[in-house]
Amino acid sequence: MLRAYEYRCCVCGFDLRIGNISAGLEAAHIQWFTADGPDVESNGMAMCSLHHKIFDLGAFTVEPANLSIVFSQNLQLGDATRSNLLSYHGAGIIRPQSTVYAPQKTYLDWHAKEVFKAPGRD
Ligand SMILES: [Zn+2]
Repeated sequence: MLRAYEYRCCVCGFDLRIGNISAGLEAAHIQWFTADGPDVESNGMAMCSLHHKIFDLGAFTVEPANLSIVFSQNLQLGDATRSNLLSYHGAGIIRPQSTVYAPQKTYLDWHAKEVFKAPGRD
């Protein structure tokens, strides 16, 4: 999974390595493992710890049609967080290095329905 995304967060591009060790980067399930989401590349995305955590909390989702990032309207955030976090709203994820790893619509639909705190921002 991390290799599919070339060891960087698909949202922000975070790719810290300490020596040969990738730090703060995680494989995020789209449809949760605990909700029968399979352990396959197309059900996952590489994300930094922050983006993984808030993806699992439904702060944002990824549109299946164009793989763009959509943030929830239900966020309270100050200026610094706003300018950092919401700068990714509407942007496309950094794509995996092969389309065979691309997130599948089925799993993104599950995330949008079961996890994302709708409605999304315009
Ligand atoms: Zn990130």
